[in-house]
Amino acid sequence: MALDTKIWTGPGRPAVFLDRDGTINEEVKYLSSPHQLRIIPGAAEAIARLNKAGIPVIVITNQSGIARGYYTEDDVQDVHNYMDKLLADHGASVDAYYYCPHHGAAIVKKYALDCECRKPRIGMLSAAAAQENVSLSQAYMVGDKRSDLRAAVNCGARGILVRTGYGRQTEEELLREAEATGAALVTNIVDDLAAAVDQILNQIAHNHPQSVKAPKFASNYRHHRPEIGQHYPHQ
Ligand SMILES: [Mg+2]
Ligand SMILES: [Zn+2]
Repeated sequence: MALDTKIWTGPGRPAVFLDRDGTINEEVKYLSSPHQLRIIPGAAEAIARLNKAGIPVIVITNQSGIARGYYTEDDVQDVHNYMDKLLADHGASVDAYYYCPHHGAAIVKKYALDCECRKPRIGMLSAAAAQENVSLSQAYMVGDKRSDLRAAVNCGARGILVRTGYGRQTEEELLREAEATGAALVTNIVDDLAAAVDQILNQIAHNHPQSVKAPKFASNYRHHRPEIGQHYPHQ
């Protein structure tokens, strides 16, 4: 699908916020080093499709492993550099990474903070929206945990749960709760990031019909178009 996103420099510019672990890369508890990084099949290609559509792709990740003393901010930077490299192999890129290094029960004192950025709080999302000039009401947050979905609700973005990472577990919990309360399950759930991006691109094309480039002439029409100087025979 061809989206003309030049119109999105002003208000209403959509964005896709992506959780990292379990959404882009295979979940590894407290991933700390590039050699643990495995991109989930189809995720890089999906990000490349968002890039091509001109939609900002922003990673929003809780990294309390920093506060817990398991790894450092430099380690996170190394992981993100390596992620950039793996994604680039598929023509994909992340526009910005935001991570929260904090945790209330931190071992590393300078990160011991009940912060506003740790999801489900919206500090990273609102900072990213301001810095990348995107509209939260037009944004999507894709992730595998309830904290991702809650962060979406808390900032007025649309949440999508993927079944990768902890996603199946999250889905089961939500289903159990819905059953217990008799409420309908309203969470938007898809298999993986590739499926989430299918849905996002369809919705954006639907919500912003003016953003979809006029289709090219069908080839048989083009074929019959006269060249300059050529005359149609009079009927
Ligand atoms: Mg995750
Ligand atoms: Zn934080």
